[in-house]
Amino acid sequence: MIPYGRQDITEEDIQSVVDILRSDFLTQGNTTNIFESRLATYCHAKYAIVTNSATSALHLSCLALDLQAGDYVWTSSISFVASSNCALYCGAQIDFIDIELSTGNICINSLENKLIKASAVNKLPKIVIAVHMAGNSCDMVALHQLSLKYGFKIIEDASHAIGARYLDQPVGNCQFSDITVFSFHPVKIITTGEGGCATTNNNLLAKKMAMLRSHGITRDKKEMLIPSDQEWYYEQILLGYNYRLTDIQAALGISQMNRVDDYVLKRNAIANIYTHGLKGLPVEPPSITQHAYSSYHLYIIRIQPNLVAKSRDEVFSQLRNLGIGVNFHYIPIFMQPYYQKFGLDPKDFPNACAYYKQAISLPIFPRLTDIDQNYIIASASKVLLKN
Ligand SMILES: *Cc1c(COP(=O)(O)O)cnc(C)c1O
Repeated sequence: MIPYGRQDITEEDIQSVVDILRSDFLTQGNTTNIFESRLATYCHAKYAIVTNSATSALHLSCLALDLQAGDYVWTSSISFVASSNCALYCGAQIDFIDIELSTGNICINSLENKLIKASAVNKLPKIVIAVHMAGNSCDMVALHQLSLKYGFKIIEDASHAIGARYLDQPVGNCQFSDITVFSFHPVKIITTGEGGCATTNNNLLAKKMAMLRSHGITRDKKEMLIPSDQEWYYEQILLGYNYRLTDIQAALGISQMNRVDDYVLKRNAIANIYTHGLKGLPVEPPSITQHAYSSYHLYIIRIQPNLVAKSRDEVFSQLRNLGIGVNFHYIPIFMQPYYQKFGLDPKDFPNACAYYKQAISLPIFPRLTDIDQNYIIASASKVLLKN
């Protein structure tokens, strides 16, 4: 089976991890700091806080923005569940924004209509979490304008999008948001095994996230509530967690960062071959936002229901039977059993429901060979054109 995604690990990556295993610090040494400055520099952000997952980074982001019980968070109806679970961790209320079918990102028009209605009943969101689906940036200029008008904060869930660009700047520079979150899970663009990161330009948010990452403890005398001259003294001043990344993982991350641009270039080349190779077939290729450069974490096609006699599920299983590890991203979050209790009506999310019936993720990863890709394209033609 050709997988839909796969990590790329080199001898240099392995050596960098081995070096840490032979060193004095497996965690809380200096390697995470080096990884953080590498990420901040790469993203043109002032601060980067690495964590043991993107899920933890999303949780820390919500906490840093002071999300409380009773507050509302809105996110994309089509995303991984972590994009909305972070709101529930804080006791906040969750609601979803319908997507635009062409990109799978939040639909700005439907967001604006929802904001107008919410404003009338005083239920505006405190935070909107914008997901850059497949590595393609949302329309951040439009989203930022709405945030100024309606007074909400923005977290970018850029789990798919390290190496992506928007308006010729790296995603993660937080020009149009408060915090950006990345994931380093092995199927994502770069990996640390498990791992994540939050970038921000706001010193207070950065400090709060760093403190909450490690139990809410400070060793900074200026922040302490009880003065002490003792070297051993520290204070817990917030209720935090252990969301730290290890130095072992950070070493892998630093080594992977050497190839992030190559990875994204290769993913774009693969995407171009798909888009040309699938021309004439009854499928829609993914669209890219204006002024965006996608990192192509995923290559998602949509079966055109009026043009194909087979359902998506038939196409999916026939491709699987041909040894192609196609996948599906994502089930609308409001349809998950856990989310049923929130009583959301699928009719309010027509595009998410249509997308759910049409989308298929084709294999895309840096080491995908031309031979395999040609086989995938030939198989897709066979399955889509034959009854
Ligand atoms: C992978 C992913 C996450 C969670 O990432 P982890 O590092 O596995 O916690 C969150 N949001 C989206 C959109 C993702 O794809």
